[in-house]
Amino acid sequence: MSVVGIDVGFQNCYIAVARSGGIETIANEYSDRCTPACISLASKNRTIGNAAKSQIITNFKNTVHGFKKFHGRAFDDQFVQGEKSKLPYSLHKLDNGSAGIKVRYLNEDKVFTIEQMTAMLLTKLKETSEHALKKPVVDLALAYGIYKQDLPNPEEKPRNVVFVDIGHSSYQVSIASFNKGKLKVLATAFDPYLGGRNFDEMLVEYFCEDFKNRFKLNVKDNPRALLRLYQECEKLKKLMSANSSDLPLNIECFMNDIDVHGKMNRAQFEEMCAHLLMRVEAPLKSVMEQSKLSRDEIYAIEVVGGATRIPAIKERISKFFGKDISTTLNADEAVARGCALQPS
Ligand code: ATP
Ligand code: MG
Repeated sequence: MSVVGIDVGFQNCYIAVARSGGIETIANEYSDRCTPACISLASKNRTIGNAAKSQIITNFKNTVHGFKKFHGRAFDDQFVQGEKSKLPYSLHKLDNGSAGIKVRYLNEDKVFTIEQMTAMLLTKLKETSEHALKKPVVDLALAYGIYKQDLPNPEEKPRNVVFVDIGHSSYQVSIASFNKGKLKVLATAFDPYLGGRNFDEMLVEYFCEDFKNRFKLNVKDNPRALLRLYQECEKLKKLMSANSSDLPLNIECFMNDIDVHGKMNRAQFEEMCAHLLMRVEAPLKSVMEQSKLSRDEIYAIEVVGGATRIPAIKERISKFFGKDISTTLNADEAVARGCALQPS
C-alpha cells in the first residue's frame, strides 16, 4: 500500500508518497515537483497547474489563483472584500452568501464555488499521483507530520523542535517534542496574513509610485501590466535573497509601448518591509510562552516554506532563539512528505 500526502498551498502544491522503501516527492508531467495552485478556464478547455500559470497574463480574467483563503468565508467578509479589488478575476456573491468565482468557460458565463475550484486542483494532483504510482489513488491523507531518525528513546528526555513555515500567504509556528515513535505538539501560533506575497506587494507599491513619477504611467489602471509587475517583483525578491547588490527590474513594452526600468537592493527592501519583518517575532514568542520551555531546551529550529528564504526573516528567527536555524527538511516539500508519513 502507498500513502499519498498533499500540501495544497496558496501558491504551490506538493505531492509525496510513502512506500515501503521510504518517502518520495512526485514530479508532474513537466518534471516539476511543484504544481502551481492555478486554474485557467478557456473557451475550449481548462488547464490546471503549470499550463494554467502560463495563462495568468494572457487570460487574466479567467485564470484563477490565490483563492485558498476564501474557503468558508462569506462574500461580505472583510478579508474577501479587501482581496477583491486586487484580483484580476471577478468574485460573485452566491445565493447562500458565500464567495464564488465568475469566469467565462466554454463560451458561457459561469460561477464556481471555492470548493469547486479546489476540487479541480485536487483532481489534477490526484491524476499526477496516479500517473507516478501507475495505479488509482483512493485515499488522500491530508495531515501534518514529520520524519526524523535517531530520536531519544521513550524513557529519555524528549527532543523539542520548533517548526516555522512561512509560505506565500501565511505564517505558522509549532513546537513539537519527539521521542522514538512519539510526537507531541506542545504549542502552535499563527500570523494568518503574513507571507511572501506581502513582500511582493511592497515592491509593487514602490515601483507603481516610481513608474508614475518617472514614466507617467498609472500601472494600477491596467490589470495586465499590474500582473506583469507582480511577477517581476516576485522574481526580484527571490534574487535579492541571494544577492545584496543593486539589482535591475526591466520590463519591455510595459504599458503604452514604454520600456520601464528600475532598481532595488536588499538593504532598501528590508527598510521598506521593516513593518512586516517586525511581525516575525510575535508567533515565536507565543509558542515559547505556551510551551513554557526555555530557549536552551530547544534542540533545533526547522524552517520550511518559501518565504523563509528571505535572509532578514532567517536572521530574525535565529536571533530570537539565539541559535542557527536548520534546513534539514526540504523547505518546499516537507509538509507533503510529513503528510505522507502521518495518515490521519
Ligand atoms: P501558503 O503556505 O501560504 O499556503 P505556499 O505553501 O503556496 O503558501 P510556499 O510554496 O511555501 O507557499 O512559498 C511561496 C513563497 O515563497 C512565495 O511568496 C515565493 O515568492 C517565496 N519564495 C520562494 N523562494 C524564495 C526566495 N529564494 N527568496 C524569497 N522568497 C522566496
Ligand atoms: Mg505552505
